[in-house]
Amino acid sequence: MEPLTNIPVERVKEIKALLFDLDGTFVGKDVIQGEAYNCLEKLNAVGVKTVAVTGRPAGWCDLMARWWPISGVIGENGALFYSKIRGEIIRETYHASEALPNNQAKLHCLFSELLEKYDYLKLASDQPFRHWDLAIDILEETEVPLDIALDIVKFCEKRGARAAISNIHVNVWFGDYNKENMSLKIIDNYDLDKENVIYIGDSPNDSPMFRSFPLSVGVSSVSNYKNIMDNHPNYVCSRDGDSGFIELADLIFSTK
Ligand SMILES: [Mg+2]
Repeated sequence: MEPLTNIPVERVKEIKALLFDLDGTFVGKDVIQGEAYNCLEKLNAVGVKTVAVTGRPAGWCDLMARWWPISGVIGENGALFYSKIRGEIIRETYHASEALPNNQAKLHCLFSELLEKYDYLKLASDQPFRHWDLAIDILEETEVPLDIALDIVKFCEKRGARAAISNIHVNVWFGDYNKENMSLKIIDNYDLDKENVIYIGDSPNDSPMFRSFPLSVGVSSVSNYKNIMDNHPNYVCSRDGDSGFIELADLIFSTK
């Protein structure tokens, strides 16, 4: 991981899209900072597409696609992509919606099995707004140690599910998607190459994105997960959370 300032200026000039994680990255603590939100408007104004890439639920993504100044939002760790085109909300999913009832039933059974092992686990408070995954709260409104979170991932993967740890949840799903697969689909639709895209995130559920994009950036707290992440970002901000996001946006603005 090199300092953010080591990205060659020529590479920054070529950026056509900024893909960004929300929790721990765009939203550093409890609320969205006005300065970070303003960056989205300014990025649009200089012709850089902005796509949020998050583990947050479909219900939240619906609002973001409708009202936020972004090109679109990938939600539930890659299960869906919502955007607004000429005033109409377009809701795309990685898997056809026919698969949804069966997936939900399997997730329900899996969570019952997990409760037999860890009876204190709680679903995240945003679970009612989700379609494709389960979010188990580890640090949003409750506290679950990281070693238990890692065991939950193993437990789910053994049963054929996928699982990813963010700074607040363990997300669990059945399906072939992740943040990376859906992002590659979207940038292909935009007719962009990986070289024209930069990604910023903070935690293990960003690992596939850090591997995939040569311009991958972590906010400073990404180093907390160094030992449990398969892939690390190539560059790291000097600041954390939304301050790190602003640091990256300012770098892009400096070349426009
Ligand atoms: Mg995050």
